[in-house]
Amino acid sequence: MLRSLHGRRVRLPVLLAFGLLLLADRSALAAEKIKALIVDGQNNHNWKSTTPVLQQALEDSGLFAVDVSTSPAGKDLTGWKPEFSKYQVVVSNYNGAEWPEDVQESFVVFAKGGGGVVIVHAANNSFGKWKEYNDIIGLGGWGGRNEKSGPYVYFKDDKLVRDDSKGGGGSHGSQHEFQVIVRDADHPITRGMPSVWLHAKDELYDRLRGPAENMTVLATSWSDPKHGGRGAHEPMIFTVEYGKGRVFHTPMGHADYSMKCVGFVATLQRGTEWAATGKVTQKIPDDFPTKDKTSSR
Ligand code: ZN
Repeated sequence: MLRSLHGRRVRLPVLLAFGLLLLADRSALAAEKIKALIVDGQNNHNWKSTTPVLQQALEDSGLFAVDVSTSPAGKDLTGWKPEFSKYQVVVSNYNGAEWPEDVQESFVVFAKGGGGVVIVHAANNSFGKWKEYNDIIGLGGWGGRNEKSGPYVYFKDDKLVRDDSKGGGGSHGSQHEFQVIVRDADHPITRGMPSVWLHAKDELYDRLRGPAENMTVLATSWSDPKHGGRGAHEPMIFTVEYGKGRVFHTPMGHADYSMKCVGFVATLQRGTEWAATGKVTQKIPDDFPTKDKTSSR
């Protein structure tokens, strides 16, 4: 016999049963979370400092159970087999050596079959010659991309332009704070966002190009020539439908300080939930940036 907090005598088996119930309840809650996998291990950016920011942002929403699969360094990735099929959404923070064929295949099967994919910043530099990957991400930069990869895509006079001009894919000017302009306010990811908000210091990717099929641009940013940009309204938040899968893609997120922008965090949380489930259940946070004021956590 034991003495409980309230001084009543409680039998040990009762306490044990109560404890088991608590445990069962907790695992039920964990089971309801969206299973997300971040892939990293190679990047021309500091993935060791940015993956924890991505993971924290997802976990802070309370919606995701996050694992990380880190590839080996170098060109030979034999033996590295992230199990995409165990997850509802895969977040790529990877820009490096080509994945082994079986990993490529399982990624395509995952996306085509209804898995969610999230592409952050330099993940869109990866795999310039892998056709299915480029269909999945919609637009990319560098990696040998050119007019054969697909059109440049940007907004002009409030309309989406697909521009087949010749030239390399991907460039950027110097890092700065820049405004994100919502172009589709009726999508689950952008619904309720201020129509214009100021993003923290980041690289503003321009001249991205790719197949851009089944793609919806939700927000753009002006690549101002005064900061070395090409002078177009560049896709900054967009989605791609690939088979039964949903893709959320943001070229934002050069460094940890860019990712700590509340606009980035909320966009990532909402975009990842949407990619996984097709819905967004989260509110726009109160500390979201405004038209002329950044906000970072
Ligand atoms: Zn960058």
